[in-house]
Amino acid sequence: MRIFTAALMTETNTFSPMPTGWAAFEEFGIQRGRDGLTPTAITAPLLMWQAAAERGGHEIFHSVVTFAQPSGPTVRTVYETLRDEILRDAAEQGPFDAVLLLLHGAMVADGYDDCEGDLLTRMRAVVGPNVAIGAELDLHCHVSKAMTEAADLLITFKEYPHTDGMERAQELYDLTLATARGEVRPTLGLHDCRMVGLYFTQAPRMRTFVDGMGMLEAQSDVLSVSLAHGFPWADVADNSAKVLVYTDGDADQAGRLARDLGQTFWDMRDDVAFKGVGVDEALDRVEVAAPGLVVLADTADNTGGGAPGDSTFILARLLERGIGSAALGPLWDPVAVGLCHEAGVGAALTLRVGGKACAASGAPLDLKVRVRGLIDELRTPSYNADYVTLGAAAWIEIEGADVHVVLCARRMQGFSPMVFTELGLDVAALRVAVVKTYNHFYAAFAPIAAEIIHVAGPGAIMGDMTAIPFERRSLDFWPRCADPFAEGCLRGL
Ligand SMILES: [Zn+2]
Repeated sequence: MRIFTAALMTETNTFSPMPTGWAAFEEFGIQRGRDGLTPTAITAPLLMWQAAAERGGHEIFHSVVTFAQPSGPTVRTVYETLRDEILRDAAEQGPFDAVLLLLHGAMVADGYDDCEGDLLTRMRAVVGPNVAIGAELDLHCHVSKAMTEAADLLITFKEYPHTDGMERAQELYDLTLATARGEVRPTLGLHDCRMVGLYFTQAPRMRTFVDGMGMLEAQSDVLSVSLAHGFPWADVADNSAKVLVYTDGDADQAGRLARDLGQTFWDMRDDVAFKGVGVDEALDRVEVAAPGLVVLADTADNTGGGAPGDSTFILARLLERGIGSAALGPLWDPVAVGLCHEAGVGAALTLRVGGKACAASGAPLDLKVRVRGLIDELRTPSYNADYVTLGAAAWIEIEGADVHVVLCARRMQGFSPMVFTELGLDVAALRVAVVKTYNHFYAAFAPIAAEIIHVAGPGAIMGDMTAIPFERRSLDFWPRCADPFAEGCLRGL
């Protein structure tokens, strides 16, 4: 058997003003598999497929493999160039029996609201109707008709934090090859829950739901079950939570199971949908919390969701309220990092911090600071133990405030306390740590935290789903409508 693979991934916050261009993909590398893949977090599933193919006596061809940090829409020529290289490889290196793609599922480019639907449709046209096409998606994806029609199999992560990417990749490999051999006939049941939100799978009812999906897959006639959560900050028609059930040839059963699971998810919506607290309410809670470190997740400025990572709203309120023994990071500010490196450890200077990228960054703060630590490259584990780099970084202490900030040169969310400790800042000994992240920080910070609070403050990622200013996505979704399935639910919105 001959297998074709490629990876083209980014998550697009269409409300972010920062375009995703060549530099954003080059930052994480644009690998071409014909030259051999270098092991990274991004290539890991493809290398696993390669090992499996070699064991099975199959031939595998890797095309373009690339990823960009979530941000605003991808520049049109960048998307088209990467897409066309993948399609050209599929045409020139073929014929293939199976196509395995790593996609995000929430990639938007100028002129393309549904990059994955576009790529899969074109791939189908290149390889023809008889080649098995499977794609692995982040669960923060928008499942479209174009995607489900073009692909034989779509499998999303089940876990958020996304700790199960390799398991899902293995399933995709096994099922897509079984499809190519004619052993199974994946038949999709799809249910649109008409919900826009975020759902953390460590929460007890979500945990039960995710475990239930796995148990359903243990039934012999059920091939794969996914809950695509959707990515809220994308103004595209297909932004919604959707259940996908693939059975082996039984459309009725697939449809029934998808509807039933969708109903179960709908019934628990009030319990499982993310609700953050405001900045001042969170700081009120810090002031009365039991001893120990209180971790505040600055969800509105999570670079992993396309925010710039340089907002100053929480930092400003910490200073205004006089709350000390506090650390905040990672705050993206390459200019300030450069100035700190120039000044050196121990230097005192007046520094303009943050608030540079866009209106959602808030105002820059002009602060008297002392440089406490410097590092040429700050590396930390991500949520799945792969390492990420935040580039050059600086630990500054704001004079007279006992507030510490870690500045970084590269946009990255805070996955681990090592954001602070690598620079020498003992964050566990402090009262409060503000981390720019949404949920991927959780596992690493929980062991040192007395309390964790998800803050939904101002910024590029609005925590209130009813306030997202959609224009292209219809407003018939929960929580905007109490019942988006009801006749006339849009009246009065
Ligand atoms: Zn995700």
